[in-house]
Amino acid sequence: MRVLVTGGAGYIGSVVTEELVAGGHEVVVYDDLSKGHRDAVIDEAAFVQGDLLDRDALFSTLRDNAIEAVVHMAARSLVGESVTEPAKYYETNVMGGLVLLDAMRAAGVGPIVFSSTAAVYGAPEKQPIEETAPVAPTNPYGETKLAFERALRWYDEAYGVRYVSLRYFNAAGATPRSGERHDPETHLIPLVLKVALGEIGEVTVFGDDYPTKDGTCVRDYIHVSDLARAHVLSLEMLARGGKSAIYNLGCGGDGYTVREVIDVAREVTGKEIPVKMGPRRAGDPAMLVASSARIASELGFRPAQQDLREIVASAWRWLSARRAQEASVVAA
Ligand code: UDP
Repeated sequence: MRVLVTGGAGYIGSVVTEELVAGGHEVVVYDDLSKGHRDAVIDEAAFVQGDLLDRDALFSTLRDNAIEAVVHMAARSLVGESVTEPAKYYETNVMGGLVLLDAMRAAGVGPIVFSSTAAVYGAPEKQPIEETAPVAPTNPYGETKLAFERALRWYDEAYGVRYVSLRYFNAAGATPRSGERHDPETHLIPLVLKVALGEIGEVTVFGDDYPTKDGTCVRDYIHVSDLARAHVLSLEMLARGGKSAIYNLGCGGDGYTVREVIDVAREVTGKEIPVKMGPRRAGDPAMLVASSARIASELGFRPAQQDLREIVASAWRWLSARRAQEASVVAA
């Protein structure tokens, strides 16, 4: 299939692009490079630099490349920032998404796989979370992702735009060529690894008074390659004429606390990793762990990498290799 990947220059998008190309699909990446990196896009994929709010550019990209399906990953995705700057999140995640749907309808393109999030559930009591759990986001990030998911449902009903919405839990790890590099970095695992490298003095734990086994938040970390493979499976299901669906995308265990993640990183890196306790971060639920039963039974999806040590080790290998490469460029 000929697939447009919005946000395909980002951390997850670049790995989804790799997986699609490996699966025999032709990919056009559409990204404004506000967060993504041009060099994260493999040479086998075409690249268009464009804004999600630019309907004409989206329309001509879809039409000129004879696109048949879309993976929509371009978004703003920081929980903390969404609380202080909700307008940005409504603009990109809701308005931008609707502009894309409009361009897709005009160009006669469908179906669509959408990057949604566990943040749509808010702070549910029942864990692991099933897709039937009530949605009640606690921050504008989750709220805006949910708004677009809801639009998809009504567009499907009225216009027949079939979709899969993938509610990501915590993407982590790296492939040999793609890893997490945000600026500024706010995610736990890359931050902890930067502390291990000595680039940051310490990591702050956001709250140790949550009702969890050690007081710190529990998250469900899934390897980015597994996450990417779920997109390909979703797209192929839709291409076979399958019905719209919503799937949780987690690793299939009980999740890990922030302290456990830091301990695993100490083990993997052999470094001390100093820690400071800090207050809770706005909008953070205590626990987010996925039930992966639905995507397992309907798409046959099972994560290949379920060991957090392996996931953190893949990120560590990627980051160490990248720093070595940067040092050799400076030295040359
Ligand atoms: N976290 C932390 N210190 C940090 C960054 C994150 O304690 O410097 C915690 C955060 O509160 C959450 C978990 O680590 O419970 C994962 O956060 P991250 O930002 O990586 O992903 P999110 O769950 O927000 O998508």
